[in-house]
Amino acid sequence: MHASSQLDHAIRQVHERLSTANEVVFFTGAGASAESGIPTFRDGSNSFWQHFRPEEVATPEGFAQSPRRVQDWYAERWRFVREARPNPAHQAIAALEQAFSDKRFSVLTQNVDGLHQAAGSQRVLELHGSIHRLRCHAGCGHVADWSAADDVHAACPRCEAPRRPDLVWFGEALDADTFRLAEDAALHADVFIAIGTSAVVQPAARLQSLAYKVGAMVVEVNPAESALRDQTTFALRCTASAFFEALGCVRTAEIPGGRPSDSASS
Ligand SMILES: [Zn+2]
Repeated sequence: MHASSQLDHAIRQVHERLSTANEVVFFTGAGASAESGIPTFRDGSNSFWQHFRPEEVATPEGFAQSPRRVQDWYAERWRFVREARPNPAHQAIAALEQAFSDKRFSVLTQNVDGLHQAAGSQRVLELHGSIHRLRCHAGCGHVADWSAADDVHAACPRCEAPRRPDLVWFGEALDADTFRLAEDAALHADVFIAIGTSAVVQPAARLQSLAYKVGAMVVEVNPAESALRDQTTFALRCTASAFFEALGCVRTAEIPGGRPSDSASS
């Protein structure tokens, strides 16, 4: 099938399923934020990773070696992220949540930039944490919003341990409660739309497999090939904006908003 007619066909099916779905899940990765100018972890040409290796600044071992170096690196990254603005994909997802107020709706994201919330999304599960918070590295429970007035080098006010961004680093487990909620959403999804994720980072990628196994319509929107092609109803090799434009999400009034059907995954 020709690429554009394939997209048309998929879009028609997605429209139809969205209109009857009880639960809609978006799963987003770095590609969803790329159009806001946030570099991806795996893009070697970007400024964040040019002079550092991920194991130096994104592992507990790297932090133990030099907390200051890691704090400074994230401070620079945080200042950059703070300037970033939501792009049409973030806005479209937030608009859909509003249009589908009669359905269960969630955004599961691997991104730490807070741009879904900035666009107005309400129900966001941040699988890899948020760069907008600082927490105690020793795990005493201290966590606070990172404000411009904060000294990132200041010790934990409760236990004097060094503080770090509230992110999940390589080699660390995802927050169990957050992941449980994300699994629950995936297990009940009628439509599961993955945007800009290559589906290689586990265990987050497991969510897509779960949704597929329970019979959700799984739509993958990513210009590059993903690892889960065989667990996808429609693999659309296009950008997020092209997808939402085709779906007509800019004009939310045109999105089907029919009542939920009785059968969960017909
Ligand atoms: Zn502490």
